[in-house]
Amino acid sequence: MGDPDAASPQLRSRLRVALRGAVQGVGFRPFVFRLATELGLTGCVNNSAQGVFIEVEGPRPELEKFLLRLEAEKPSRSFIHSLEGSWLAPLGHTSFAIRESQGGGSKSAIVLPDMATCPDCLSEILDPQNRRYFYPFTNCTNCGPRFSIIDSLPYDRANTSMKRFTMCPRCQEEYDDPRDRRFHAQPNACPVCGPRLELWSGAGIDGMQPELCVPSTGEGNRNVLETTAEAIRAGKIVAVKGLGGFHLLVAADDQETVVRLRELKHREEKPFAVMFQSLEFVKEVCQVSAFEKRLLLSPEAPIVLLRRHSAPSVARFSPAPSIAPNNPYLGVMLPYTPLHHLLLFLLGRPVVATSGNLSDEPLCIDEHEALERLHGIADFFLVHNRPIIRHVDDSVVRVIAGGEQVLRRARGYAPLPIPLPASEFEVRQVLAVGGHLKNAIALSVGPQVFISQHIGDLETDQANNAFERVVADFEKLYQAQPSVIAADAHPDYVSTKFARARSEQVRSHTDSCEEHGTSANSQREGPRLISVQHHVAHVLACMAENELKPPVLGISWDGTGYGLDGTVWGGEFFVVEENLCERVAHLRQFRLPGGDKAIKEPRRAALGLLHELFGEAVFSMDHLAAVRAFSKEDLASMRVMLARRLNAPLTSSAGRLFDVVASLTALRQKVAFEGQAAMELEFSIEGCETSEFYPVAWSNRAPAGESLTGTASSMSVLDWSGLVQGILSDLEQGVAISQISARFHNALVEMMLEVARELGKERVALSGGCFQNRYLTERAVRRLREEGFHPYWHQRVPPNDGGICLGQVLAALRG
Ligand SMILES: [Zn+2]
Ligand SMILES: [Zn+2]
Repeated sequence: MGDPDAASPQLRSRLRVALRGAVQGVGFRPFVFRLATELGLTGCVNNSAQGVFIEVEGPRPELEKFLLRLEAEKPSRSFIHSLEGSWLAPLGHTSFAIRESQGGGSKSAIVLPDMATCPDCLSEILDPQNRRYFYPFTNCTNCGPRFSIIDSLPYDRANTSMKRFTMCPRCQEEYDDPRDRRFHAQPNACPVCGPRLELWSGAGIDGMQPELCVPSTGEGNRNVLETTAEAIRAGKIVAVKGLGGFHLLVAADDQETVVRLRELKHREEKPFAVMFQSLEFVKEVCQVSAFEKRLLLSPEAPIVLLRRHSAPSVARFSPAPSIAPNNPYLGVMLPYTPLHHLLLFLLGRPVVATSGNLSDEPLCIDEHEALERLHGIADFFLVHNRPIIRHVDDSVVRVIAGGEQVLRRARGYAPLPIPLPASEFEVRQVLAVGGHLKNAIALSVGPQVFISQHIGDLETDQANNAFERVVADFEKLYQAQPSVIAADAHPDYVSTKFARARSEQVRSHTDSCEEHGTSANSQREGPRLISVQHHVAHVLACMAENELKPPVLGISWDGTGYGLDGTVWGGEFFVVEENLCERVAHLRQFRLPGGDKAIKEPRRAALGLLHELFGEAVFSMDHLAAVRAFSKEDLASMRVMLARRLNAPLTSSAGRLFDVVASLTALRQKVAFEGQAAMELEFSIEGCETSEFYPVAWSNRAPAGESLTGTASSMSVLDWSGLVQGILSDLEQGVAISQISARFHNALVEMMLEVARELGKERVALSGGCFQNRYLTERAVRRLREEGFHPYWHQRVPPNDGGICLGQVLAALRG
C-alpha cells in the first residue's frame, strides 16, 4: 500500500479498498456503512461483480482504525479472500453512501450458498405479535436463499428470482434502512408482498392441470401448512417445494408409508434422511457430539450421519425400520427454512425428507415439472411461487477423525470455491467435467476453483440434462470461456463424451469463422481436451484441498476407475512429484466375472478372487457362502467366463476387496446401492476392539531405489492371499464377523504402511470412496502418525467421485 500521508496525520486522506471473497449477501455493505459512520468518515461502498468496493475519506488515524476494524468485525457469514487497499488524495466526499451496484468486469465475486434460517428470523415467525408470524419466506441478511435464486451477478434483487415481487412500503423501508437487519436483504419479503404457498392435490390430475386444494389466506399462509401437516399425519406422501428443489415428505414413524414411498420411488434400501423439529428431539434418538451439534445448527445445516442410541430409552419417537435398514447410523437434519420450521412445528414429529425424484434422478425444481415427474408418487404438492433458479440437494456430512467430512457437497457449501496455491494463479480457465457417478463439475476462475453442487449419477437422460445445464449455468454465472476441458480417461463416460464433443465443436466453429475471415483475433485452438486418470484425480483433489505440495504419496482407493493399462483400477498408490505422477504400487489383481454386473453382486467378486487363489477347485468349495450364493447354472456360466477370461476384466480395486469379504462372511451377496457391502462390513465391527490384522505381503516388490519407474516390470504389488486365507480359516473356526471385519480393516491399513515405509514420503494423501469409511480412515490416520508420517484426508470436498472434478482442474493446470 502506498503511504504518502503517513507523516502528516492531521490531513484528510482517502482510502480505497477492493474486497474479494464471500462479501455479498451477508450484510457487508450495511456493516461498512455503520463502521464508517461511527468513525465519522465519508465516502461510499458498492457491490461489483468482483466483490465489494469501498472508498472512505477522513483523518488518517481514523482511516487506519477503519481498516483494522473492517477485518476484525466483519459479518460472521462473510470471509475476505483478498483485500487491496490504496491511499489517495481526498475527493471531498461529504457523506457516506451505499451506491448502486456496478455491472461489468470479470465475474469473480463469490456467490454465497443458501443459508439456514437465523435465530432472529426464527423467533419472528413464532411470535404472534410479529408481522411475519407464520410467514414461510422470512429471511434477512444473515440467512435465506442465495445460490438457489441468483440468476446472474452482481447479487441484487433484480438478478434474482425475487425480482417478480415488488416490496410493500414496510419491506422497502427495512431494505433501505442501513440500521435494519434487512438492509439490502435481496430476498426480503412479508405476507403482504412476498411469495405464497398453495397446496395442490396429486390425485385425479388430468392433463397435468393442478387441482388447487388450499390457497393461502390471511395470516402467513398458516392454513396451507396446517392442512399439509394433517395430510402427513394421515399417512400421505407430500411433495414439498423447498429451497433448492422438491422433497418428498412422510411421517418418519409411519412404517407403512415409508415402505410405500420406497416402492413408488424405486429406492429399495438406500437410507432415507430424517428431519427433526429440534436438537432435543434428535438427542433422544441419536448420539450427538459437540461437533455434530455445531454442524446440525450451522448455516449450512447439512444432513449429518449420527450414530443411533443402541437402546432408545425414553424416546418420544422411533424411526420406522425401513428408513435405514441394517444401519447403526441415521442421516439427520434440522429445518433450514421457515417453511420447514413451521411445518415441523405444526406436525410435532420428525419426517422422512428425501429428494423429490425417481431413484437417482436429479431434483425437480419447478412445480409443473414436479406434477409430471412425481405424479403417482405424491398425494399432495405443497408449492410456492418463488422460482428456484437451480437445483441444490441437501448436503451430507460425517464426522471423521475429529473433523467434518463432506460426503455430498451441495446446499450450504456449493458454490464456495477452493483457493489454489499462489504459484498457480496465472492460469487459464479450466472446466472439469468430473466422473460418472456422483458427478459434480468444477470451473477455475483465476485463483479460485468453483465446484458445482452435486449433480448425481449420469445414468439417466434427466441427470445428463442436469449435467449440461450446470455446465452452462457455471459458464454464464462466471462469464467463463474455458481454454482447457478436463475429463476422466474413461472414453465412454457421458461426461468424457461431452468434453470431447465440446472441444471438437468449438474447434470447428473457430475453423468456420476463420474461413469467413471473421476471427483473426479469436483463439486459434478450441478448448484443449485433457484426460485425467480417475485415481490420479482423486489424489490431486486431496492435495488441492489440503494445499499440499509435492512430493506426496497418494493412496487412491475406490470401487472402479478406468486404468491406463486397460484393467479396472481402484487400489492404487502414486508418487506425486513436481510435474510428475507415477503409479508405484497396487493391490494384487483378480477377475470380475460379468464385468459391471460384479459391481452389484459381491459374490461375483468373491468368486473371481477365489478363482485367482485356488483355480478350478473353487467350484467345489460348497462350504463357502460366496459359492453357495450361486445356482448351479450360474456357477457353470461363471466357470466359463473365468476359464476363458471372457467378460471377466482384471481389477486391483480395494472397493471390490471389501465386496469379497462381505460375501465370504455372508453379510451381503447382492447390493441395492453403491458401497452398501463395504458400509455393512464397516458397521459389522461395531463394539470390537482389536489391533490384530491378517498377514499382508508383497507379491512383487521392486528393489528399493529402482522401484519408482512405474513400469510393469518394477511395479510393486500388494498381495491379499494371506489375508484371504486368514479369513477362510477364521470362518472355519467360527470367529465372530466383527472380529474378522476388524482384522481385515486393520490389514488394509498395514498395507498402506508397508508402501509408505517403502517409499519414505513424509506426506500421505488418502483419497477415493473407501475413505468414507470412518474406521479405515481413522485407523490409517492414527497408524501413519504413529510411524512418523503426515496423513491428509478430505474434509470440504468429498473423497468419493464428487471430488474428482477438483483434481481434474489441478491436473490440467499442472499439465
Ligand atoms: Zn434471518
Ligand atoms: Zn412486504
